[in-house]
Amino acid sequence: MGVYKIAVLKGDGIGPEIVDSAIKVLRHVEKLSGHSFELEEGLIGGIAIDQKGEPLPKETLDLCLQADAVLLGAVGGPKWDNLPTSKRPEKGLLQIRKALDLYANLRPAKVYEPLIQASPLKEETARGTDFIVIRELTGDVYYGEPRGIFIENGKRVGINTMRYTEDEIRRVVKKAFEIAMKRRKKLTSVDKSNVLEVSGLWKEIVEEESKNYPEVELEHLYVDNCAMQIVRRPSSFDVIVTGNIFGDILSDEAAVITGSLGMLPSASLGERYALYEPVHGSAPDIAGKGIANPIATILSVSMMLRYSFNLEKEAQAIEKAVEKTLEKGYRTPDIYSEGCLRVGTQQMTDAIIKSLEEVWQELY
Ligand code: NAD
Repeated sequence: MGVYKIAVLKGDGIGPEIVDSAIKVLRHVEKLSGHSFELEEGLIGGIAIDQKGEPLPKETLDLCLQADAVLLGAVGGPKWDNLPTSKRPEKGLLQIRKALDLYANLRPAKVYEPLIQASPLKEETARGTDFIVIRELTGDVYYGEPRGIFIENGKRVGINTMRYTEDEIRRVVKKAFEIAMKRRKKLTSVDKSNVLEVSGLWKEIVEEESKNYPEVELEHLYVDNCAMQIVRRPSSFDVIVTGNIFGDILSDEAAVITGSLGMLPSASLGERYALYEPVHGSAPDIAGKGIANPIATILSVSMMLRYSFNLEKEAQAIEKAVEKTLEKGYRTPDIYSEGCLRVGTQQMTDAIIKSLEEVWQELY
């Protein structure tokens, strides 16, 4: 039985409430599976600014560097909105992602049948959607040099540079193939190789790597076409891999077709470290009211079990428990619809734990 060390950073707003829920679920997985999870808490974001004077204190970073994985709630809130950008809670997030050298951001887009009416797409289009967008995080036009606003012939010109090295492309592409191997073995690589040289290199490396994964069916799409196909045939995708800027846009598009921010988990992976967090923010408008939807964070834990600890059985059990709980009609206010059972964070968590026990008995 494995022993896994997890750094827990609850952060601000609803962060502590939703992370506590996820930990409760994790403790149940521990009981059912026999694995053990050692949790240690650190401060990040606004609460860290209040107590330590900076959004990512050194002791928090050290804790994360010694852990097998990091679970994060959310940071930020109106209390810290007037601080200069370099001192704001969100800076802590950027710092930790950089320090852990996280280069692949994974965002699943899954339409749950009981919530299908929340999707802005027609039911028959949305049905069965279950794919992951993998976005490269460290390169591309956000970091390439030269960059800036310059004067040319007395006029201003804005410049950013799209830049990727072979190694940066290869590591995220390999990760994407590995993830596709654990899923339905279909990979869509997205680029703009009809006009961009960087994309030409991207496509070449994807082709090279595909030789190592002959079982994975590979498709190439231009980013503009992919944006259309995501709303036309979302259920045909399994894993999509792309660069930083295309991924930024496509992952938000993918998120919106699921219809609910409170349901969306994410993972950011590096070679050695990994960080798991919900896609949503700290929701200061509902913090402390006991009504936050804990599912995005609970599903982030499921991703942690799968991608950091290789505990596929346990990860699936959590996902099935969430699905079963939705089938039973439990809804936090953000996903409520008529005829369902309106519950708060605690009741939703307890209902998921009950479903988890049932799922475990049925399956294992
Ligand atoms: P948000 O995601 O916090 O909230 C947007 C809306 O969705 C709000 O109405 C909120 O109540 C609702 N919502 C979000 N998560 C929910 C949940 N789990 N259950 C129920 N409802 C939920 O985005 P925002 O309002 O733009 O930002 C609020 C703060 O969060 C800001 O300080 C922002 O900088 C920060 N933020 C942090 C992260 C992060 O920590 N990764 C991400 C985005 C925003």
